[in-house]
Amino acid sequence: MSLFESPFFQDAFSQLEEAAGIMKMDPNVLERLKFPKRALQVSVPIRLDDGTVKVFEGYRVQHNMTLGPGKGGIRYHHHVSLSETAALAMLMTFKCALVGLPLGGAKGGIKVNPADLSRSELQALTRRYATEIAMIIGPDKDVPAPDIGTDSQTMAWFMDTYSQLKGYTVPGVVTGKPIAIGGSLGRADSTGKGVVYCINFAYEKMNKKVDKNTTVAIHGFGKVGIPAAVDLHHQDAKIVAISDVSGAIYDEKGLNIPACIEWVQQRNFLKDMPGAKTISNEELLELDVDILIPAAIDGVVTEANAHKVKARIIAEGANGPLTKEAVDIITARGGFIIPDILCNAGGVIVSYFEWVQGLQMFFWDLDTVNKKLHDIMKQAFDKVYTSHQVYKCNMKSAALITALQRLEGAMKLRGMFPG
Ligand code: NAD
Repeated sequence: MSLFESPFFQDAFSQLEEAAGIMKMDPNVLERLKFPKRALQVSVPIRLDDGTVKVFEGYRVQHNMTLGPGKGGIRYHHHVSLSETAALAMLMTFKCALVGLPLGGAKGGIKVNPADLSRSELQALTRRYATEIAMIIGPDKDVPAPDIGTDSQTMAWFMDTYSQLKGYTVPGVVTGKPIAIGGSLGRADSTGKGVVYCINFAYEKMNKKVDKNTTVAIHGFGKVGIPAAVDLHHQDAKIVAISDVSGAIYDEKGLNIPACIEWVQQRNFLKDMPGAKTISNEELLELDVDILIPAAIDGVVTEANAHKVKARIIAEGANGPLTKEAVDIITARGGFIIPDILCNAGGVIVSYFEWVQGLQMFFWDLDTVNKKLHDIMKQAFDKVYTSHQVYKCNMKSAALITALQRLEGAMKLRGMFPG
């Protein structure tokens, strides 16, 4: 598949063009933003536990580094492709620009189903992939983090491999590490926490409060969905449905979130959770709830099902869960969308804090991390909301416009080489 071929890339591209048109962006800057700066494809051979050798496809794409080193997760999923990785790298450029970080956009991934590999095979895969992309990453160049299918253990192996290659410990090469080896307090929950901050900011704009009558459905109960569920549960919201790749569960009286987390931690999947009704992932997306949080994968709400989505607020925890057509349909019927590059930016913000702490070898307490996270998210939300009102456009375009204004200014100041 070529760089531009995936539906996800095409969709990100058309959203970019629409926002650039609304804000009347300089076409020469837009032209440059349509292409990633650099894309590396690598073969990742590993010896499986049965002694045979298998080669996996890996990628690292750096979209734009005008504002600083690249930043973006590493995904282990059987759908990973060059084009999907490039689209995600582009979103990272806009996300970092939107929330004011001195970072550019990048993304990486391996086409693999991690559930098919043993722990030692996953370690071998990660170490070989780290070695293959080592030439373009580093604390000053590009700083990976976890994404779908990867976690703090993956980052620990990655950091160790890079450090072995250098001959000394380099904590700033990745974020999302375990706390014991230079991770930041608050990083694990930061994306979900940011999602819930945004939901509260949106409620404030509507002169409402999240309370025991607020109903919520969460699609994807992983590193983003779980902390979001925990924080909303603490606010007494009624989380009526959650799902993972194995299916969805529903209880109109509200699910017992701590019990659901315990179940998933023990069994890996939500399936067969006692005391809750089983529904499909599709049914969950169409529930009549106040808040829907799509926090699994991209492209789950499209032209085909957007008419059936009834939630008043859709908080995009995942990257690209709503296609452009879906955004238009939902906005037209009065739904309020909190766009991905704003809604799930908590992760990259605390990743930035982790990178800064690693460079200085000076670590902050949890209250400092969460306070700084809250303040950055609030500022970004208010800027996007202002763009939404000034340009009379949907929140998706408003978020992109806010990001593009910062990028356009920086790219013009730096100019182009050769001019
Ligand atoms: P994860 O692997 O921890 O969790 C993903 C969840 O989605 C799991 O519950 C999984 O079972 C479920 N899922 C996967 N495929 C599904 C499908 N086809 N239908 C229904 N459910 C499915 O991943 P994560 O880190 O929580 O990431 C989720 C999304 O959030 C991704 O789009 C990712 O890029 C985005 N994101 C993550 C972070 C982060 O800090 N982890 C930050 C920003 C954005």
